[in-house]
Amino acid sequence: MYFGSVRFFKHLILTVTALLIIVPTVMCIILAVDNAKKSAEIDRLSSYIDELTQSSVSSEESSTENSTAEPSSSESVSKEEPTETDSPISSLAETKEPQVSVPEQTTAADTASEEPESQPPQSVPVTDYTELYPELYSERYEGEYEDSENTVYLTFDDGPSVLTANLLYYLRQENVKATFFVVPERTELCYSMLKEISDAGHSIGIHSASHDYEKIYASVDAFLDDYNEAYQMIVEATGKAPEIYRFPGGSINDYNSDTRNEIIKEMNRRGFTYFDWNVDSNDWQGIGWTELYTDTLNAAEELTSPVILFHNTGDRDNTILVIEDVIKALKNKGYKFGCLTQKTKPVQF
Ligand SMILES: [Zn+2]
Repeated sequence: MYFGSVRFFKHLILTVTALLIIVPTVMCIILAVDNAKKSAEIDRLSSYIDELTQSSVSSEESSTENSTAEPSSSESVSKEEPTETDSPISSLAETKEPQVSVPEQTTAADTASEEPESQPPQSVPVTDYTELYPELYSERYEGEYEDSENTVYLTFDDGPSVLTANLLYYLRQENVKATFFVVPERTELCYSMLKEISDAGHSIGIHSASHDYEKIYASVDAFLDDYNEAYQMIVEATGKAPEIYRFPGGSINDYNSDTRNEIIKEMNRRGFTYFDWNVDSNDWQGIGWTELYTDTLNAAEELTSPVILFHNTGDRDNTILVIEDVIKALKNKGYKFGCLTQKTKPVQF
């Protein structure tokens, strides 16, 4: 009989022995694999928390610091991080509980998903516009304003253009000086016209490089970028640094309500003076010769120091056609003509 025989017991002992060896071995392998997985998870979480702490510390720093971030200070902050991140890592390593690590991971991921997206990249330096363009300053005139009694200030915006030579001709004929708030371009033709305006003794002020309202009034930085570009072109063309300017659309317009005070404050700090106008010829509306002549004269004659807004773009033919007669009529009323400088009392809205 097999059951109860020596052979039966021999097989039984062998089977039990085999089970005693195989079961613990399999258990050990399972535990080892599980352990390896947990270790990898802990390593991943550790580096993740490192990254997270680093980005949150640096973003806190950039939001609280108004001035330019010092590279040395950000380094010193990041050096302190390992001591802060030590505790969560070691607690994770000690417990080795996936149930503990999963909630922490989701909490960390929640905060991480919000902060880096709303913060600017670390490589972008925090700049203050007062530090932009260190050469873009003008020496403000501190003396008394010149006498502007019975003086007309003709101002021409948006040039130079194909009509600038004609305009300069009539001004020369009447021997009057005017002010050009220009929109310069980096072309030989534009530079030669700027030089011609300057050499004729007229005043050149900055209007804009782009004349793009939405762009230049977006921020003080944007305004300065545009202003500086126009400034550089005028200096290159004429050899003279402009000291005055006129805001595109005037100092109060639909595009600068949020930024105008800050822009004016910064431009005042830099020593530049802006001029609006107190007579609008409305030539920009394309009105006819008679209306342009009559309305401009009527409005100017009510003031002792009219600052008249005209335009010098290539499509303002009527401005060229009317200017000689406007000048003659105002001379007959006893006015003299001047060009705007920092010595002129500013007309501002
Ligand atoms: Zn303009």
